[in-house]
Amino acid sequence: MKTIGMLGGMSWESTVSYYKALNEGVKRSLGGLHSAKICMYSVDFEEIEKLQHQAKWEEAATILSKAAESVEAGGADFLLICTNTMHKIAPEIERAISIPILHIADATASHLQNDNITCVGLLGTQFTMEQGFYKDRLSDHYGIEVLIPESGERKVIHEVIYSELCLGKILEKSREKYLDIITQLHERGAQAIILGCTEIALLVQQQHTFIPLYDTTQIHAQEAIKLAISK
Ligand code: GLU
Repeated sequence: MKTIGMLGGMSWESTVSYYKALNEGVKRSLGGLHSAKICMYSVDFEEIEKLQHQAKWEEAATILSKAAESVEAGGADFLLICTNTMHKIAPEIERAISIPILHIADATASHLQNDNITCVGLLGTQFTMEQGFYKDRLSDHYGIEVLIPESGERKVIHEVIYSELCLGKILEKSREKYLDIITQLHERGAQAIILGCTEIALLVQQQHTFIPLYDTTQIHAQEAIKLAISK
């Protein structure tokens, strides 16, 4: 079995979901007492979040590249960046290491393509919804049309992520807001919704809506398991 490298802590609330999904997945596939081989570096998210909101992406890239080097030195065979947003600086991290990165948008796109989804709504941080690094990868590499919420709604989604979900606060009124936004995206033509922030599934799950949800945390973990146990 290959060793899965994780850049975690962004936030740790979602890293817990990754850790659980990876171990449960390996146990399901291999049985017995099998569990995932993991080498993880978990950052201090306060530091990273400040740099994000000051648009100091190069400084964030330096911190995460160093962390990725440690993960590689610890024996990881490939790397998961356990957040959608920080894939903005995946190219910089990739240059710092010699193991491959399993890109979260590629993993998600392959699941969408398998289900013949050609138009999808994207929820995530404002960085993920508004900048090109994620949306453009889905449309340019996979031909998937990506719809994002209107500006006021993007702010609401972003605020809930940083002020609630990353702090472990799960509030019913925020779930209702998210579900309204999901319905609007569906009415605009989205066949499915990408939960493009690794904490969103803590708030909204498939049981809350008939609109198909693609949880990037679970998808990323599933693809990592496949790679880890492949020969
Ligand atoms: N975990 C989130 C994501 O998937 C947001 C936290 C971060 O900014 O990294 O984008």
